[in-house]
Amino acid sequence: MNNLLEVENLETLLHTDSAPVRAVDGLSLTILPGETFALLGESGCGKSMTALSIMRLLPQVGEIVAGHIKINGTDILQLSEKDMRTIRGKRISMIFQEPMLSLNPVLTIAEQIEEVLDQHLHLSKDATQKRIQELLEQVGIPDALQRMHEYPFQFSGGMKQRAMIAMALAGEPELLIADEPTTALDVTIQAQVLDLMRQIQQRKHMAILLITHDLGVVAEMAQRIAVMYAGEIVELASRDDFFHHPAHPYSQQLFASLPGKQKRDQALNVIQGSVPSLAQQFSGCRFVDRCNQALAICHDTIPPWYPVTSDQQVRCHLYQQSIPAITRAESANP
Ligand code: SF4
Ligand code: MG
Repeated sequence: MNNLLEVENLETLLHTDSAPVRAVDGLSLTILPGETFALLGESGCGKSMTALSIMRLLPQVGEIVAGHIKINGTDILQLSEKDMRTIRGKRISMIFQEPMLSLNPVLTIAEQIEEVLDQHLHLSKDATQKRIQELLEQVGIPDALQRMHEYPFQFSGGMKQRAMIAMALAGEPELLIADEPTTALDVTIQAQVLDLMRQIQQRKHMAILLITHDLGVVAEMAQRIAVMYAGEIVELASRDDFFHHPAHPYSQQLFASLPGKQKRDQALNVIQGSVPSLAQQFSGCRFVDRCNQALAICHDTIPPWYPVTSDQQVRCHLYQQSIPAITRAESANP
């Protein structure tokens, strides 16, 4: 099967007042039609900037300086903004982290979905109204026929999120990018929204790029997983490999920090330290200051990719077969 999305060596800079920040630094990934691919990591590691780069909707200070982003083989970085507008909404669309940022407060929900439909599907007036009602029903908005004529402020948080999902799905995209789609929702609505995304995916054979820091959501939704840290991918794995034997120390520490693993009265085992500044050039592993298994080599040599299984790769010196096990143990416990 041909890839639907191919991102190759993507580099996205943010021009801040001081040094430019490499928000995405040499990232490559591929997504197949119909597949759910999760991009997992803490906030500030470049997940949202990756999504906004693919949509070509970066903030003013953002700039893609290198790489390719191909949709069905077409490099969208070469397209004019006019051509890109025909792809956005129709071929790729996005559910944003914050629904209020993508809903227009002065238009009714129906008017906003109508804009997407008019741009991409060219239906008659009646068919458009019918389609809007259907979409809102599909995302579980009760009394859709009446409620479609309400404004965003008349919708609760969960309803706004559903309306935004309806809008993202209106153009029947081949790829849906969902950036923390359920973070703001309570558990029941969260389950309904994920279920809905899966139903529409099955019906339309839509691919989903799911961006999240929630391992539970990843386990439920994704076939493949990329773990992102400090602007780059550090582990790429099938769901089974990832959940049975996470390979990168960062992935392992993410699992160890799950609240379910602790006794109730123990403090949450959060990973010590924070993501390093992406304004610097790295000469070793980006995770070295927080890694509980670091070797001497990790400080001055950038780890390359190593295969772990046929469906799992990791960017970590621990997997360099030539290092004898004894050296690993010594370095881990100096
Ligand atoms: Fe830890 Fe070294 Fe692996 Fe980086 S390369 S994750 S510092 S063991
Ligand atoms: Mg984010």
